[in-house]
Amino acid sequence: ELAFRRKTAVTSTLIRSIRKYSEELKARDRDYVYKVMDFCGTHEWTIVHFGLRSLLGKAGVDNVELVAGPGCPVCVTPSYYIEQSIKLALEGVVIYTYGDVFKVPALRPVKGARTLAEARALGGDVRIVHSFLHAIMDARRHNKPSAFVGIGFETVAPGYSEAILKGLVPGHLKLMPLVKLTPPAMFYTLEVVREKPTDFPISGVIAPGHVSTIVGGKAWRPVAEHFEIPVVVAGFEPNDVLMAVAEILRQLARGEHKVVIEYTRAVTWEGDLKAQSSIRTVFETVDSAWRGIGYIPKSGLALRDEFKEHDALEYFGIPDLTPETWRYDLPANCKCAEVNLGKAKPTDCPLFMKACTPDRPIGPCMVSVEGTCAIWARFGGGG
Ligand code: SF4
Repeated sequence: ELAFRRKTAVTSTLIRSIRKYSEELKARDRDYVYKVMDFCGTHEWTIVHFGLRSLLGKAGVDNVELVAGPGCPVCVTPSYYIEQSIKLALEGVVIYTYGDVFKVPALRPVKGARTLAEARALGGDVRIVHSFLHAIMDARRHNKPSAFVGIGFETVAPGYSEAILKGLVPGHLKLMPLVKLTPPAMFYTLEVVREKPTDFPISGVIAPGHVSTIVGGKAWRPVAEHFEIPVVVAGFEPNDVLMAVAEILRQLARGEHKVVIEYTRAVTWEGDLKAQSSIRTVFETVDSAWRGIGYIPKSGLALRDEFKEHDALEYFGIPDLTPETWRYDLPANCKCAEVNLGKAKPTDCPLFMKACTPDRPIGPCMVSVEGTCAIWARFGGGG
């Protein structure tokens, strides 16, 4: 009870300081709206689950808008790779996948299956695992050709690279390398919003805490410097997010634009150097397709030539996507791309909670616990 009271007291202090800076900014321009982008699906979850948007609204902070960014790897993985995984499953390859990837709808059904769940219902051997290591342990019990659908951001990459470097991966298990890198995506998102503004540009960013444990606070410095906006690396408690908003507004009120690490209990400026070195040894940085959005330069990881023997795409003869072969891959009327770029809210989508629901998702943002549409649907709106 004491801990709860302390947390509540901190929340009240943070709200007071957010209101103070909001008033200072309002005194300069009454009509300007400061958009703060939360870049991680878990931050959006915190904001919606704990009702932080309405908390700010009730405190009279009406010139700050919290918008969600592309912080869900499942939402931005091209449909092509889901389709290829379904195809492999129906051809007898054991497919290992995370639970939320299992239900992601592909744009084009493959032999009647639109998801890996449907492929399993049609007889495919699709197994849900928590990690690559879990898949390795399971694959060691059999000798069937297998592929792990390696979706994720920087946080999962060291698990893939270390397993390869330590020689843990059995020869019949291959990795579909689908890791996406967040700093280039943040750059791209801010550029797109700046070039084609729907209303106000992004004034500050809450940078992802988990990713930053690997890449460090330093990864966001180019963003803060190029766009001249504050970037705060935050944890996932409601007070972490409020602290980040307070610091962003403080910097805006003082005309500053720097990276601040609020999540000091897990993140350092340099990040995890050992993990960074492991990733660099096994993977190279490549241009990568983001579902509904397109190619973002240097935003993905591919296995280096020395480690190609582990590559599921190469082993199973699946041509990789290129800017020439990638096609816009969201269903008609699905606004996942705009939602991921902070240009629309889930409620702007005509399908939200009508044709598209967590039980019957149409677009990828309605599936994962980190998908903005799924979060808004489960907690009844934007919080
Ligand atoms: Fe796409 Fe469904 Fe979200 Fe609409 S509600 S943007 S269809 S995921």
